[in-house]
Amino acid sequence: MQNYSRQREAIVRTLANTVSHPTAEEIYAEVKKNCPKISLATVYRNLRMLAKEGEVLVLHTSDDKEHYDGTVTPHAHLCCPRCGKVSDLPLDAELIKALSETQPEAKFELNFYSLCKDCRNN
Ligand SMILES: [Zn+2]
Ligand SMILES: [Zn+2]
Repeated sequence: MQNYSRQREAIVRTLANTVSHPTAEEIYAEVKKNCPKISLATVYRNLRMLAKEGEVLVLHTSDDKEHYDGTVTPHAHLCCPRCGKVSDLPLDAELIKALSETQPEAKFELNFYSLCKDCRNN
């Protein structure tokens, strides 16, 4: 149990320390540095549990892989269809207020698709 919660803690910490919206594989590579015994299946299992508890967001952006987000306050995403980069976009205060009046379990995912700066310049 001790081991289990330490792995979960490492996943939460990894997501809290990044704004890059990593995939499960990327989180696995990072967590492995501190928990060398962790498996990709364990990372997936923990991510699924954390998502269910509302601790992390699962994003279904342009590529076929799910991305994870440690920022659970309402915000939108800008997704690059070429390189798959996902960045945060702030939401209008009126919209956040309206969202806060919806049911607590209400889920939304607001993604905009546009080439990122790097891809536009190449
Ligand atoms: Zn790009
Ligand atoms: Zn985000």
